[in-house]
Amino acid sequence: MSDYHIDTKCVQSGYQPENGEPRILPIIQSTTFKYKSTEQLGRLFDLQEPGYFYSRLANPTCDYVAAKIADLEGGNSCVLTSSGQAAIMMTVLNLCEAGDHIVSCSTLYGGTFNLFSVTLKKLGISVSFVRPDADAEEIIKAIQPNTKLVYGEMVANPALNILNLESFAQAAHTVGVPLIVDNTFPTPINCRPFEWGADLIVHSTTKYMDGHATSIGGCVVDHGTFDWEKYADRFPGLTRPDDSYHGVIYTRQFGPAAFTAKFTVQLMRDMGFSPAPMNAFLLNIGLETLHLRVPRHCANALAAAEFLKRHPNVSWVKYPGLADDSQYQLARKYMPNGVCGVLSFGVRGGRDNAVRFMDSLKLSSIVTHVCDARTSVLHPASHTHRQLTDEQMVLAGVPNDMIRLSVGIENSEDILHDLDQALNIL
Ligand SMILES: *Cc1c(COP(=O)(O)O)cnc(C)c1O
Repeated sequence: MSDYHIDTKCVQSGYQPENGEPRILPIIQSTTFKYKSTEQLGRLFDLQEPGYFYSRLANPTCDYVAAKIADLEGGNSCVLTSSGQAAIMMTVLNLCEAGDHIVSCSTLYGGTFNLFSVTLKKLGISVSFVRPDADAEEIIKAIQPNTKLVYGEMVANPALNILNLESFAQAAHTVGVPLIVDNTFPTPINCRPFEWGADLIVHSTTKYMDGHATSIGGCVVDHGTFDWEKYADRFPGLTRPDDSYHGVIYTRQFGPAAFTAKFTVQLMRDMGFSPAPMNAFLLNIGLETLHLRVPRHCANALAAAEFLKRHPNVSWVKYPGLADDSQYQLARKYMPNGVCGVLSFGVRGGRDNAVRFMDSLKLSSIVTHVCDARTSVLHPASHTHRQLTDEQMVLAGVPNDMIRLSVGIENSEDILHDLDQALNIL
């Protein structure tokens, strides 16, 4: 479907039924697949022939949805995982082992920050953090001889900082390592990381891609252009024989799909972060309207940000789509059509008023989730950052008056009215 516009790809890419087959993506709810001969199944196990044999490694329903996402991002191949966290963890482990090092932007989703700073450390993989707006020189300074990848979150959840994508790509390619970008908040509708030099893209499909808060999921998309063979000594897992497959060399056997092939047949086999076919089916339904929902989320969020800015009971508003926001120029550069539907703001009077505001909302719901069709709110001081002292929260960039608002696709007047009535109670 590569010649079509992204809107058409959202609806039509992936599953292509043949004559007389079901019009809608079938849910292949089967752990295993049947073969006529011992020898043929043997060839599958030796990777000499493509085919499905066990859904821990691969499943057709999941693969059709992965193909759609690869098409949306303009990538060569994609693998779905059981969650966004699983996609990030496995992407790192597909390139790194004990003794290796990563350079990452410092503004990260909380789960990714813990993975990088605590869990990877226990596995012997170290991480250096740089500012999301760092220039290439600053990023190169953080790179070591054992660095295997550079990582960045395109729009940080919840800090809403924008990644200086070009500098990160330039730094990574100067030293010969891939750039991995988490494109969860902008989605491929608003941001095209491969066109700016990213080599791999990860997503929490749980967010806008699913869009209806039904299924946890993730994926990794490979652009298929990073030259692993050129840096063969740095990436032995891809360029040297794999003993667990009688010596297969992924770059030789799978060419530009080497990364996703190794990810599937080695890491999925050994670790099993596999998605459920039913969840892939639900994700596909979400993807069919992604191009309609994302612009609506952005328009409603901009209207909410402008409204909150004028409200006397609001002390500050952070939204990269506002012309006076510190991130506005970077946002315009990489996401000219809009950023996302998530914003944050401060309630005048601090923690107690923030709680009263939350409890007075009628339409917006208090949930941990973001990027849902329904407007959702969270008070980090009462929820995700509850264990921190007020001083620690200021250091983390999460003051105690902060509300994280994920603006949905309802009528914007109804959303503004709900915010207004709750703010006016204070
Ligand atoms: C939610 C999120 C993740 C983690 O994804 P899960 O699907 O919850 O595991 C990673 N990155 C970003 C930017 C997220 O918002």
